[in-house]
Order: sequence, then structure tokens, then C-alpha cells
Amino acid sequence: MKNNQTYTYALCGIIFGVCFPLIATPFDIWMSELPFSWSSVVQVQTTQPLHWIIDTAPLFLGLIAAYAGKKQGEIRQHNAMLDQIVREKTSDLLEQNQLLQEEVEHRTKTEIALIKARDEAEEAKHAEERFLANMSHEIRTPLNSMLGFTRLMMDTDIDQQQGEYLKSIKYSSNHLLAIINDILELSKIKAGQIDFELLPVNVRDLLNSVINTVAINASNKGLDIELEIGDDVVQGIKADAVRMSQILLNLLNNAVKFTNQGSVKLRVSNSKATPSRSTLKFEVIDTGIGIPADKLEAIFDDFKQAESNTTRLYGGTGLGLAISRKLVELQDGNLQVTSTLGEGSNFFFEIAFDCCEAVVEAEDPFNIKIHEDSTLRAKILLAEDNDMNRVLAEKIFEVWGDSFDVDFAINGKEAVELFVENDYDLVLMDLQMPIMDGFTACEFIRTQLDSPKRDIPIIALTADVLASERKRAFQVGMNEYVTKPFKPQELYFKMFKSIQDYRESLI
Ligand code: ADP
Repeated sequence: MKNNQTYTYALCGIIFGVCFPLIATPFDIWMSELPFSWSSVVQVQTTQPLHWIIDTAPLFLGLIAAYAGKKQGEIRQHNAMLDQIVREKTSDLLEQNQLLQEEVEHRTKTEIALIKARDEAEEAKHAEERFLANMSHEIRTPLNSMLGFTRLMMDTDIDQQQGEYLKSIKYSSNHLLAIINDILELSKIKAGQIDFELLPVNVRDLLNSVINTVAINASNKGLDIELEIGDDVVQGIKADAVRMSQILLNLLNNAVKFTNQGSVKLRVSNSKATPSRSTLKFEVIDTGIGIPADKLEAIFDDFKQAESNTTRLYGGTGLGLAISRKLVELQDGNLQVTSTLGEGSNFFFEIAFDCCEAVVEAEDPFNIKIHEDSTLRAKILLAEDNDMNRVLAEKIFEVWGDSFDVDFAINGKEAVELFVENDYDLVLMDLQMPIMDGFTACEFIRTQLDSPKRDIPIIALTADVLASERKRAFQVGMNEYVTKPFKPQELYFKMFKSIQDYRESLI
């Protein structure tokens, strides 16, 4: 094929080269006005050097054409090769395309399965959340009555033995409440529902206040309690004071609980510092019973205690360290322990904080003396379906004197009806009630009534402590959220403040 091409081109070149002098010579004879004869041919050929070139044209043209033929042959061959390669590549690509399509189909199927699994997991999470909300509500509601009535009864005329019994009831109720709180807290942490509110904190004030909180228990047990703060520890940090206190109080309460003689020390030192950030090391050191080496990790697990008889001897739920460790981890720290059995333990962790100006610690926000503002008179509506809780509330209001004139509703519907008929200064609204719940009742007041009636403050008074319920309460327009069992001081403070703010807003 290749040679054929070359020869064909060479032959064409030669034929063309031969034809060329055959045309050029007569043309020259005619131009030179010579007669057409053989001698004229010879004359033209010999006198014009151009004819030498024209005469050798067949040779050159033949060679050039042969070369061109060869090249074209090569190009054809190359093209054929390219064709082959393209065909092979195309079939490869088709194959790969097919594989890719299969892969895409596989991935799509996996994605659908994952979405389904995620939906199921979310549904399970919601179910767990609903379960916790309900459980919390169902247990906290009766507990609220138990604790409230116990408190009220302790203030009545009772003999010493009855006082002891009441103390036991109070202790057990508080213990039950602590367990529920711990379980809810841990589930919130695990569900990632914990937000750290970083605000300026005065380090020394915070540490003094946690030490003061455990000092009474420590001195009752005859223990020395000590706070050691390094001189180079900064004055102000940005931290979540509530969470930091929670961690330190848990460690300090454990230290006091598991120490029978000697001391408990909270040591805080500066581990690393730049002008804007400070890493503080917190250590809670005790001279207590210590922890066996093989239990040093297990005690951080949920519901784990070092010994099987710990609850019987010391109480506790086995959740405190699990919660504390997670809270430290959420602040990029690591809660660890070293301990020697019979000699004592050292729980320690480090957290890096942003530094800030030292702040003067605010007064306890709920520390208003009840009756301090004797001029406060308010008509309030309490919507509460639980009989015991209504009686308890009535008693508490009685103790508060004649500041509040209270009407009661046993469900949301009745609350709305009473609210429309009367002029109240404040509504205390339970959230879970039959017929109409507190959310719906509040939403009705906020959206269906006219101003200023619809702007009357509404405080959620509920056994639900889940963040989602709290958020929903604020979304439907509640002004405050108080969880049961509530501290009377806190409720009074929030009622007082809401009424005051509302009255000021009308001026
Ligand atoms: P709780 O104190 O409610 O039992 P924690 O999670 O706080 O639960 O502690 C788990 C266990 O770790 C305790 O039951 C105890 O066995 C052990 N533990 C914690 N702190 C100390 C301590 N300072 N000294 C000795 N043992 C401790």
C-alpha cells in the first residue's frame, strides 16, 4: 500500500514532467517565430538554458511526487493508527463510562440508604428527647409537690422526730431530682445541645464562690478546705461561669464526700499565657480514700463508681464525673486523675481562655428579699392542671403575703377564657395540660387578642427542662421560663421583674 502510493505519485510526476517539455518546446518555437521543424526544436533546446531545467523536470517532479506519495502513505498509515487508537480509547471510555454509571447508581442507592438511616436516627433521637421530656415532666411534677410541701411543713409546728422524717423526705426528693437532672444533663451533652455562654468572669470571685459552696459540708466533716491561686493567674477571663462552677463543684463535692480526714484543696495555676489568652490549670486535691489503679478510667463512665458499695456508703449517681469530663472536653480540655489508695486523689484539667478586663461579680440575681417591695400588688392567673401543684402554689403565695391575688385555671382553654374576662398583671402557665396546652394558650393570647391585653407577661412554669421546649416557649411569646421544682426566690424574682418591666413599658 505504502509503495503503491509512492510509485503512483512518481509515475504521475514523470508523466507530468514529460508533458511539460512537449508543450513548452512548441510554445517557445511559436514565440521565437521559428518554423515547426526538428532543427527549430534543437535550436530552441540548445539556445535556452531554461529548457535544460524543463527537460529534467520529469526526474525532479517524479522524485518530489514519489516523496509526496511516500509521505501521504505515511500520513494515511498514521491516520489509520490514530483511528485505531481513537477506537480503542473510545471503547475504553465507554467501558469506564459504564463503570462510572454503575458507581453512580451504587452511590445513589447508598445515599438513599444513608438518608433513610439518618432520618431513622433523627426520629429515634426525637423519640428519646420526647421520652426524656415526658419522663422529666412526669417525675418532676410530683417531686415539685413533695419538695414544696416538705418545705412548707418544715416551717410549721412539728416535733423533732417529725422534723427528722421531713429531712429524710427532703433528702430523698433532692437525691431523686439530682439523678433526673444528671440524666437529662448527660443526654443534653451527648445530643450536642449544650451551648457555652462566654462572658467576662472574675476568676477569683468564681473560685471563692465555689469554695464557699462546699465549705459548710467540709467543715461539718472537720476537713480543712483551701483555695490556692497562683499570683500570675489573670483577673478576668471569658468563660461560662455556670459550667465552670458545675465542673469544679462536682469535683469538690466528690473530694469532700470521699475524704474523712485531712483536707480538700482547689489549686489554680497559670500554665501558659500570651497577652490575649491564658491557659489555667485546675486541680482538686484531697487526702481521701483514693481510687484503685484499675478503676481510674472506669469512674469517668456513665453510672460507674469505684466500688459496688459506694452508693450505699456515700450516695451519688455515678454520673458526675462523666458529665464533668464531657464539659471539660467541650472546652478543649481533658479531665484526668491521679490517685493513691488510702492517701488521696488529684483531679486536674487545663482550659485555655481569652483574657479580658476583671469584672465585679454581680449580686446573686435572685437574691431579692421577699416582701422587700411591699408596694407590689398584682392580680395573677395560674394555669396548672395538677391539683397538688395548685395547692402548693396557693400556699406559697400565702407565705408571700398579700402581694398577689391569684386565680386558677386547670387547663389552657380555661386560662384563655379567664384571661379574656379579667384584667391580670401576669400569667403563670404550665406547658403540658389537657384540652389545651400552655403553648397554644400563650399563642392564642399573643396573636388573637388586642394590645395591651395581649402583651401581659406570661411565665412558663413547667417541669420540662429540655432546651427544645424552652425554645418553643419563647417562640410562642412567653417572657420567662421557670422549671419545677422551682426555688420560691427565683419565681418571686421573675414575677416581680416581669410585672415591673411591663408596667414601665406602659409609661
Ligand atoms: P458519684 O460521685 O455520684 O458516685 P461521680 O461520677 O462523680 O459519681 O464519681 C464516680 C466515682 O468515682 C465515685 O462513685 C467514686 O467511686 C469515685 N470518685 C470520684 N471522686 C473521688 C474522690 N475524690 N475520691 C475517691 N473516689 C472518687
